[in-house]
This record gives sequence, structure tokens and C-alpha cells, in this order.
Amino acid sequence: MAKKRFRRIIDLAMVVLLISSLAAGHALAGSFDDGGLLRLINRWETLPKDYVPEEMILPEVDTNKAGQKESIYMVPCAAAALEEMFSAAEEDGYILLAVSGYRSYSTQSLLFKNKVDSVGSRETAQKTVAPPGASEHQSGLAMDVVSTNFRYLNRDFLNTPEGKWVARNCCYFGFIVRYRDGWTKVTGCNPEPWHIRYIGVEHSVAVTRLDIPYETYAAKARTLPEYVLSWGTSELFYGLVGDMLRGDETNAEELRRAEEMDEDIRWETLDRITALYDSWE
Ligand SMILES: [Zn+2]
Repeated sequence: MAKKRFRRIIDLAMVVLLISSLAAGHALAGSFDDGGLLRLINRWETLPKDYVPEEMILPEVDTNKAGQKESIYMVPCAAAALEEMFSAAEEDGYILLAVSGYRSYSTQSLLFKNKVDSVGSRETAQKTVAPPGASEHQSGLAMDVVSTNFRYLNRDFLNTPEGKWVARNCCYFGFIVRYRDGWTKVTGCNPEPWHIRYIGVEHSVAVTRLDIPYETYAAKARTLPEYVLSWGTSELFYGLVGDMLRGDETNAEELRRAEEMDEDIRWETLDRITALYDSWE
């Protein structure tokens, strides 16, 4: 795909995301807290039993099976991003299909119980099926995706042209492939090239460029002030989190200090440090 066209898609996606995130209340955009787009969800940081997203809609995309039409609810900004992503894939000749979006705590309990029964242990089961509360599907921010040419939730999806397209491009729409080869120890899950999670385009591009599990990214990013997380660019997050992972907290410290100061100084600091990483590339 030509770079220029990519840029256009990104710009378009950004406008849609900005409008939808404003509509959904931008305050949560850069938050790791309850209901925040950045919230880390895994077997160590679970969602409460009664957690249900405030608002969800059905994205207008095709599903793998007719019976799955009602199983693909997502929070509105993630649904809009998914629609954009499916359209872009189609322009490139790939027909993606949605399989499973929002799943309630009780549905996840049932799935997990069935898995434990079939494999015989909780430890083995939780590598392939998240225990209740540990599934990103309960947040309405995740979707399982297959294609007309490969309709299975199987790790061979990664080797199909559609799977490769998703792995390469989903970040430009705000999604990350959450469970990859070699990351099981950190994520707690076996590779799932079909499972994508929405975190917003500035963060998804940074995470993908850094090529690290979301747990590793979140460990550093969550120490940044919310004004940075909500309004920073992908270049900033890529550079800043990269520095933090190397043990250099200089710029992160400055941004934290600016949080306590006047708004003018806060934005000036964010601009200046962003420019630092822009020119640094
Ligand atoms: Zn999934």
C-alpha cells in the first residue's frame, strides 16, 4: 500500500476517532482507569463481575456466521474504527469478518468452565480461554476477526494474506494484535492473531512500532499524566515509552512536573517534548 494513501486513511480515521471520542467523552480517552480506553485487562488485572460498558453499538460489518450478528457489540469509538478498518481492507481486496465482540462476565464464565472441563486444568485452560473478568471482550474494546478465505479462530490466520494485513495495518485504526508469538509469559495468553484490541490510534501505532506486549507498554505509559496520555502523538509515545523502557525518565519527569503547573506551561511542555521526539526521528 502506498505511503501517501496510508496517510490519507490515517487522517480520515483520526477525524472519525476524534469525533467519536469527543462524543463518548474525551476524558476517558487517555485513561487506564475504569472505563478508560487504555485499561489493561488480563488475568492479573481483571474487570469486576458487574462491569458492563456504558454504551455499545453494533458495528456495521459482516460477520462470519449469520448467528454472530448480535455478538459483535463494541463501544462506539471502537465500532467506528472497526468499520473504517474493514473498509480499508476491502479496498485492498481483503474481506474481513467479525466473529465476537462484547462478551458478558457470565458468558465468559461459561466458556472458561467448559474449557477447564475439556482440558482438565485451570492453568492449561487459561492460556486459551480467559477466566471470567480477564477477557478484553468484556470491555467492548476487543474483536475477533477472520476472513472469507479463512474462517477459523486458528493461529494459521497469521499466515493468510488477510491475517498479515490485519497484523500490519490494524494499528492505523487504533487496534493492536494483543497476543503474539513469544509474548505468552507476559500476556498470559497463547498467540491469537485474530484478536484485536482498541486503544486509540496514537497508542496503537506506538505499541506496534515498539513491538512489545501491551503489558510492557502499559507498565510505563500508566505512570504518565492523563493530559499526556489523552493528547500525545504516536511519535511522542513511541519515543517517550522507548526511553522509559531503557531507564531514561528525564522527559517523563518533566511532563509529570508540568501537570502541577499552569495550563499554559503544561501545553508548552507537551509541545516542546513532542517536537523533541519528532525531530529526533
Ligand atoms: Zn478474542
